[in-house]
Amino acid sequence: MVKTPIYLDYQATTPMADGVLDAMMPFFQEKFGNPHSTAHRFGWETSAAIDVARGHIASLIGADEGDIIFTSGATESNNFAIKGVMEAFQLKKPHMITLASEHSCVLNTARYITERTGGDVSVLPVKADGLIDLDQLKDALRRETALVSVMAVNNEIGVIQPLNEIGTLVKENGSLFHTDAAQAFGKIPLDVEASHIDLLSISGHKIYGPKGIGALYVRQRPKVPLIAHMHGGGQEKGIRSGTLAPALCVGLGKAAEIALKSQGDDEVRMTALRQRFLDLVASEISDLKINGTMQHRISSNLNIMIPNLDNQKLISKLRDVAISSGSACATGKSTPSHVLTALGLSANEAKSSLRIGFGRQSTEEEVIYAAEKIIAAVKAQRG
Ligand SMILES: *Cc1c(COP(=O)(O)O)cnc(C)c1O
Repeated sequence: MVKTPIYLDYQATTPMADGVLDAMMPFFQEKFGNPHSTAHRFGWETSAAIDVARGHIASLIGADEGDIIFTSGATESNNFAIKGVMEAFQLKKPHMITLASEHSCVLNTARYITERTGGDVSVLPVKADGLIDLDQLKDALRRETALVSVMAVNNEIGVIQPLNEIGTLVKENGSLFHTDAAQAFGKIPLDVEASHIDLLSISGHKIYGPKGIGALYVRQRPKVPLIAHMHGGGQEKGIRSGTLAPALCVGLGKAAEIALKSQGDDEVRMTALRQRFLDLVASEISDLKINGTMQHRISSNLNIMIPNLDNQKLISKLRDVAISSGSACATGKSTPSHVLTALGLSANEAKSSLRIGFGRQSTEEEVIYAAEKIIAAVKAQRG
């Protein structure tokens, strides 16, 4: 017997990995010092633990400990990176390039830039497989392009963008490259040097760490010009003031340390689970289609379109299997997923799509159970 409800929504969030809570606990009571108190050992103790966490985060992306700024999550990191760079170049009427399939926190920040700061933003379409068209990027780059923001891995369809190729083009143009790596960090190898990345956003709760913490990698050599995001006591190099939450920072660091070790095994296991699920469902629902490329995709994601399905109805019928129709921030809204329509799906096709997210805790029994439930629910809806 499998234990229900079954969670298959690991792109929305993940539970904390074993060891993360234990690493965090001392920082709530015993080790309570303000990490910015430089005058005594209470402060030194927490500040040292935070720097160890920075080191774990940095080693997952080939960066230095000093290049990591803590934030409250990837939403804040994306806001920080985009506003920080675009405001730094404000007098030059800067241009920014991003993708139609980006997370809403990038797209809505880009909208803010055009509406409130006079910056100019090009939102490039993606190809039918979800990947960026590099020729279109080449054509869109201008002399005044300050920033290119392209996500590493999409949160709805899991496709992996060609970061090395994008970074090379951006660097040749003399622009800065930001990537939202909330779904990539700790899941696929990332290297800020090889990919010429200047800014990289991280979220704790997508990588089996705590919620409410994230980080932004900011290249120091050469130093990325970034306008301060929070004004105050000058913490985090003066660009993100406010007392850090040592427990959360340590938790994110621990999750990163674990991810570095388990990345390879996770990949192998989840690829097999996903294939098992897909084989089962496809054998009963022959007209299903996969949204986005399977070739360049993280192992933990699947997104399928079942013609004429009402995904909201199906998901609400699935009482003991937790899957989603797309981004957690967009579910419940009646508008079709902007990611799926960017691939060229009609509104109806987008509303016939399901996102299934596999995770470290997923088992073969769970995947079989979920596949059977989904098949039965689809057949019931089709009558
Ligand atoms: C979850 C997610 C975010 C937002 O991260 P938070 O830490 O929840 O703010 C941003 N971008 C992508 C791609 C995500 O998956």
